[in-house]
Amino acid sequence: MSFKAEYLWIDGTRPTAKLRSKTKILADGAELPLWGFDGSSTQQAEGNSSDLVLKPVFSCPDPIRGGDDLLVLCEVLNTDLTPHATNTRAPLRAVAERFANQEPIFGIEQEYTFLKGSRPLGFPEGGYPAPQGDYYCGVGTGAVFGREIVERHLDRCLAAGLGVCGVNAEVMPGQWEFQIGALPPLEVADHLWVARWLLHRTAEEYEVTASLDPKPAPGDWNGAGAHTNFSTRAMREGYDPIITACDALGDGDKPLEHVRNYGSGIETRLTGAHETAPWDAYTYGTSDRGASVRIPWQVAADKKGYIEDRRPNANVDPYVVTRLIVDTCCTALEKADQV
Ligand code: ADP
Ligand code: MN
Ligand code: MN
Ligand code: MN
Repeated sequence: MSFKAEYLWIDGTRPTAKLRSKTKILADGAELPLWGFDGSSTQQAEGNSSDLVLKPVFSCPDPIRGGDDLLVLCEVLNTDLTPHATNTRAPLRAVAERFANQEPIFGIEQEYTFLKGSRPLGFPEGGYPAPQGDYYCGVGTGAVFGREIVERHLDRCLAAGLGVCGVNAEVMPGQWEFQIGALPPLEVADHLWVARWLLHRTAEEYEVTASLDPKPAPGDWNGAGAHTNFSTRAMREGYDPIITACDALGDGDKPLEHVRNYGSGIETRLTGAHETAPWDAYTYGTSDRGASVRIPWQVAADKKGYIEDRRPNANVDPYVVTRLIVDTCCTALEKADQV
């Protein structure tokens, strides 16, 4: 007997990489082998030396095919087995290992928008729906759009064993969110990439697109983000490390270095309106949804917990945002002897 392994990888599309996948039939009990693909069709190689290597790094039950079938997330390698230039997981591996002693964990809030054609699901043909106000966590016809897809996606994430911890309807019609975590950096990012693949794959069945565009509807509509919640063991145990991490993210060139790597089109979303901070100013504050980084009220009350970086776009690469935050904050915490 055999089983189906769906090999997933991240391509070289610019400015925002896309997911790709293909199916391999394996004999029952077989190890997951290295595999290859045509990099010239994914913007990862030239046609005259197009072979690239897929190396399985995370697998889980395939909740769509069921049985013994698997989803297999891969890193992309060159044929000499070094990480390919588009492989952002490899540099995260090094940073995660370097700071593993601080036990960093993340919860990422993935916002997204269902599109029917080029318009958000729930936007009437040729016109606009009632302004924002009733949609966030709403219920009922006319308030939410696409719930059946959301429920099916959630069930599939759970069946796959992904660390999804919640879903909610968002501020704009057709806009939703799911959260993954809290998990260590590699795990949260691997799970998020697989959850994104399941989202696109599930939306296919409804002939709807799940878009990670940070500003899917111009004008007075919220953009789509990926708020990234972060803590180390020291932050979970005391308040000084919380402040150290907030200050570290604001130090010197750090705000720009982070924002530049927080997803394409960030200046269209971080305008300072719609529950965001301006992209070129760094602030942090308690309960402040207009700050770059928010300290949740419960964290300020308990004097321990985590911080929320509200800047990352929905289209951010979770391997990149987790690497930058761990690097910036854990370096500062180590210097401050708060590990
Ligand atoms: P919001 O009020 O910003 O919408 P959510 O409930 O959507 O908040 O998301 C909160 C996120 O914070 C979840 O993904 C959760 O896993 C994460 N989280 C909770 N505690 C911690 C922690 N100690 N460290 C890192 N992330 C955490
Ligand atoms: Mn949320
Ligand atoms: Mn949200
Ligand atoms: Mn949030």
